[in-house]
Amino acid sequence: MTAAFCTCRDKKCPLNPANHDKGCTPCVAKCLQDGELPSCFFNAVTPYRGPDADYSYLGFARVMLGAEEAQAAHPEHAPEKQPAEPAKA
Ligand code: SF4
Repeated sequence: MTAAFCTCRDKKCPLNPANHDKGCTPCVAKCLQDGELPSCFFNAVTPYRGPDADYSYLGFARVMLGAEEAQAAHPEHAPEKQPAEPAKA
């Protein structure tokens, strides 16, 4: 089994789906044990940071806050906003 959507670039990691047939399970289990988020979450919102970067929950929050600040400075790079849902009575 592979995870075709996996954006992890650390092909040397034994937990990378390219190196076994268990999909995301080993990666997610390791991340949960270590208080981290899988690299695919980071790769979705920031350029690749390397295998030794801070992948903690707090690290992800810092990336997201930094991303929000970057978008505020450069709104032309902000993702498209979804239309607001109409207010319910
Ligand atoms: S959870 Fe891990 S193995 Fe699964 S897509 Fe994300 S980085 Fe890849």
